[in-house]
Amino acid sequence: MNIATQAVQIGLEWDTRTGAVTVPIYQTATFRHPGLGQSTGYDYSRSGNPTRQALEDGIARLDGAARGFAYASGMAAITNLLLLFKSGDHLIVTEDLYGGTCRLFDRIFTQYGLSFSYVDTSNTAEVTAAILPSTKAVFVETLTNPLLKFADLRAISAICRSNNLLLIADNTFLTPYLLRPLDMGADIAVYSATKYLAGHNDTVAGLVTVKDPMLAERVYFHQNSAGAVLGPQDSWLTTRGIKTLAIRMERQQENAGRIAEWLATHPRITKVYYPGLKDHPDHDLMGRESRGFCAMIAFEVDRHELVEQILLKTKLISFAESLGGVESLITFPEVQTHADIPPELRVRLGINNVLLRLSVGIENCDDLIEDLRQALEN
Ligand SMILES: *Cc1c(COP(=O)(O)O)cnc(C)c1O
Repeated sequence: MNIATQAVQIGLEWDTRTGAVTVPIYQTATFRHPGLGQSTGYDYSRSGNPTRQALEDGIARLDGAARGFAYASGMAAITNLLLLFKSGDHLIVTEDLYGGTCRLFDRIFTQYGLSFSYVDTSNTAEVTAAILPSTKAVFVETLTNPLLKFADLRAISAICRSNNLLLIADNTFLTPYLLRPLDMGADIAVYSATKYLAGHNDTVAGLVTVKDPMLAERVYFHQNSAGAVLGPQDSWLTTRGIKTLAIRMERQQENAGRIAEWLATHPRITKVYYPGLKDHPDHDLMGRESRGFCAMIAFEVDRHELVEQILLKTKLISFAESLGGVESLITFPEVQTHADIPPELRVRLGINNVLLRLSVGIENCDDLIEDLRQALEN
């Protein structure tokens, strides 16, 4: 079944008693036992809740996983995955990582004896060179933020297999609609569902999918033990969002492609990062491996003063963090989303004081271009 259809089906047949078309919001902490030593399958909502389960089963199906897990945020999901490791373990990580993930690794998990090497995971030779005897996993972002480098998952997973390393893919930007990491050799996929999956800038949520049932059992043990689960209301909102994932992503990508081309011809724009443009270094690889180029664009303006002007003058496009939702958002990574990346790394990556990041929404594209045009005028 096509993934667009699968997405719409989530929760559809959940309530056999009433035939409700959407999964009900089971706003309950606990469940009555039918008898001593008996269970309906639900005992307590941290351990399992039907509304959350519909979402967890749904994302597992979309990703071709053994099981799915829903968390209170993307960061809670990533934190839960790090509980798979113990003191002394080393992980190889994408260098232009989401700022919050970098902060979690460097400022918190290093205190528990984990260590991290940051490499350009779009360059497989760098991944191989970083392997130590204590390396246990590679953590990649399938499409990085904000500079939109595409990871060659098949090549990295071959390295992981031959070195017995776990491969964890943060697939937030692409979603299962554009790319299914587990089909390409990843063991675990993780999502900030806050972004494209929920898609409406109205809820914070995290999802994990696991390919191997035994590994999934360990992840479940950690989910239930650490307890950062997604509540029933937010599980319902996330499921509702996922139903329209395919049409949103198609529209957003179409808008992004046009806007990237328009930006590339604007005299005040000196650089455009969008993998759908032919001059992007990963254009060919991503064209082969992914169903599309996503709808995130980064661009540089010709002088720093223009940054503030654009952030203040855009009217349709809101100056706000986050991405992937139906509303277009613009942000300034150096100060907003990537402030927790060490300054020298920021410089090396190209996150500078003239770089803006645009998350293209589903609005009419001519309106968006007009908004950018007037914001760039003196
Ligand atoms: C936003 C984001 C996260 C963190 O997710 P939250 O839902 O904000 O906790 C992790 N990874 C990537 C790539 C993100 O964009």
